Amino acid sequence: MKITHATSAPALYELDDDENSGETLVPIEKENSGMGARLGKVESTSCFSDLSFAVETPKEIVKPHTQYKKVLVTGGAGFIGSHVSQFLLERGDDVVVVDEMNDYYDVKIKESNLQLLQKVSGGKNGNVSIYRGDICDEEFMLNVFEAERPQWVCHMAARAGVRPSIEDPFVYIHSNIRGTTQLMELSHKFGVKNFVFASSSSVYGGSSSAYFSEEEAVDNPVSPYAASKKACELLSYTYHHLYKLNVTGLRFFTVYGPRGRPDMAPFKFIDRVSRGIELQKFGDGSSSRDYTYIDDIVDGVVRSLDRQHAYEVFNLGKGNGTSLNEFIGLVEKHTGKEAIIKQLPDQAGDVPYTCADVSKASSLLGYKARVSFEEGIRRTVEWYSNVNGSNPAIDVTVPKEKLVSDSICVVHSKEHLSTPVCA
Ligand code: NAD
Repeated sequence: MKITHATSAPALYELDDDENSGETLVPIEKENSGMGARLGKVESTSCFSDLSFAVETPKEIVKPHTQYKKVLVTGGAGFIGSHVSQFLLERGDDVVVVDEMNDYYDVKIKESNLQLLQKVSGGKNGNVSIYRGDICDEEFMLNVFEAERPQWVCHMAARAGVRPSIEDPFVYIHSNIRGTTQLMELSHKFGVKNFVFASSSSVYGGSSSAYFSEEEAVDNPVSPYAASKKACELLSYTYHHLYKLNVTGLRFFTVYGPRGRPDMAPFKFIDRVSRGIELQKFGDGSSSRDYTYIDDIVDGVVRSLDRQHAYEVFNLGKGNGTSLNEFIGLVEKHTGKEAIIKQLPDQAGDVPYTCADVSKASSLLGYKARVSFEEGIRRTVEWYSNVNGSNPAIDVTVPKEKLVSDSICVVHSKEHLSTPVCA
């Protein structure tokens, strides 16, 4: 049996004591067969990370755990969670997915992500277990922990999106704050070795810095979504303090790539330009933002999972920005279509340049984003064309009725600094 190992891959040692406890809960989609063909990871192309920053107070480097893991991935049917799960399965770990499969965007996309995970894990007798349910459902989650006994948790489930959080804050409080608390409660009770969760660059919403650093105070979240992520960071510190739970929070900066969320700017741009739908461009297009390719995010998440930091928060971004003009130009280049642009004046509060300071992740995780924005857009356009051409059952395009209210301004305006850019 050939296993493709990543740098920090486990050596596929025998299971220790984290087998099922004998509880009767059966995963809805548990397949049991050997590991089948593994998908090769795409090669990264170039280094866009700015590693020129120095970490002022050197911290102890935590050695990676390189053995087999059974990882609970919440939100494993979603964009980032499914990519992380795929990577873990490909390197030989077991993955337990929990996802409520909500309809924030087309559920068919999530179903197709789960099918892919089953395929990657080898179909029958595979090493993925899939549970459909709400992470806030105490009984359900207790049953999952008792049945699976995961010792590693990668918590990606959340309600994402900024504007919807303003419209319906309670669902964000529920899934993000209550959900994360519920998982940490179970994680400490079941002796989880490492708890890694998705925070967001949206916590920097009120900041006027160009480079967002983890050292900044982020006490001014500008949306319920951002506040929910900040609340998760605070609560996770409490769980570390009270129970010595090892916790790492990851502030992702606009993640894009194949299977990306249809509500986010990179996906929308590609979709609209491909279909000849107008983009509204505010300002001269010189302002820039940090966009991170999914493979780089997966690398950062897995590096965090493998390293049991006591309590850390890391930025995971590309480490430099791309201007709106460059962004549109690259989409035009790789779709082979000219964008139809409606030029509009600058929006009040526009900021010229913002991106992640990734020096801490570089020092402590060895993280380095490798996929250039151009290469990332090329791969995403290629995926978009393939999916639309080959599988019309999965509609990855943005519904027409949504196009009226959505506009390109959300990408680079201060007012929505933490909207789809950072969500
Ligand atoms: P996604 O919406 O594709 O995935 C999230 C998944 O979580 C979904 O499949 C959803 O069904 C599931 N989920 C939500 N609430 C749940 C609940 N109560 N119980 C069980 N499952 C639930 O989003 P994504 O882009 O993959 O984001 C993953 C994580 O990263 C989220 O925490 C998000 O806030 C964070 N994040 C993402 C980005 C980005 O650019 N994509 C940026 C910053 C932070």
